[in-house]
Amino acid sequence: MAFKGRPTGSAFLRFSKNHNRQNYNRLMILETFPVGPLQCNCTILGDEETREAIVIDPGDEIARIARRLTELGLKLKQILITHAHIDHVGGALKLKRLTSAPILLNENDLPLLEMMDEQAAWLGVETPEVAPPDESLTDGLTVGLEHYPANVLHTPGHTQGSVCLHFVPLKMVLAGDTLFAGSIGRTDLPGGDSEQIFESIQTRLLALPDETRVVPGHGPATTIGAERRRNPFLRGMN
Ligand SMILES: [Zn+2]
Repeated sequence: MAFKGRPTGSAFLRFSKNHNRQNYNRLMILETFPVGPLQCNCTILGDEETREAIVIDPGDEIARIARRLTELGLKLKQILITHAHIDHVGGALKLKRLTSAPILLNENDLPLLEMMDEQAAWLGVETPEVAPPDESLTDGLTVGLEHYPANVLHTPGHTQGSVCLHFVPLKMVLAGDTLFAGSIGRTDLPGGDSEQIFESIQTRLLALPDETRVVPGHGPATTIGAERRRNPFLRGMN
C-alpha cells in the first residue's frame, strides 16, 4: 500500500554499456508499468543477449505481464518482491506457476503474507493465493541477472521486510514503498514503524550517489539527489 501517486508510463529503454575494449553494446530491456487497483509499479528487466529476465513486484495483471515476457522473448529467472503488501505480492504465485521462476521476499514480511485475507479485506478485493518465498531477500544478497545484478538493501519501516534493490552498475534503485518522488511510505499499517523508515532512508538510500535513479513502488521515477534536495519528508537529513 502506498500514498496514491501518478502512474508512471511504460518505458522501454535500450541501454548500452561499454564492455571491455571492444566497445560492444549489451542491450537491456527495462519496462516499468503500473498494475492493479493501487497502480503498483511492476518492472521487467531483461538481457537482450541471454534472453533472461527478472520481474519485480508483480502485484496484479499477471496475464499481461506474462504476455509481455513472451512478446519480448524473455525467460523469467526470478520474481523479486519489495515487500508483502497485497498490491506488490498479490500476483507472484500466479506468475511463478506460469514460469517456474522462484519468488524472493524478505522473511521479516512472512507475518504480512499470512495476513493476506485481512489485506484483501482492506481493499475489498478477493484474497489472492500466496505461498512462502523460495528464498529470503536478506540484506547484502546479490540477486538479478548476471550482467544486471542487484544488491539487496534491507530497509525496514514501511514493513519489517521491506527491501530496496540497488542495481549498482545501472545506477538505479527500485525502492518499493520506502521512498517516493516527494513522499515516503506510510507506516500506519501492521509492521510499520516511522522511526525505522527514516533511519532506513537516511542510512541506506541517502548513502547512494545523487545520480542514482529511483523507481518507486508507486508513481513517477526520481533520483536520490532530487529527493535529497526537495522531498519535504527528508528535511534535516543529508
Ligand atoms: Zn506497501
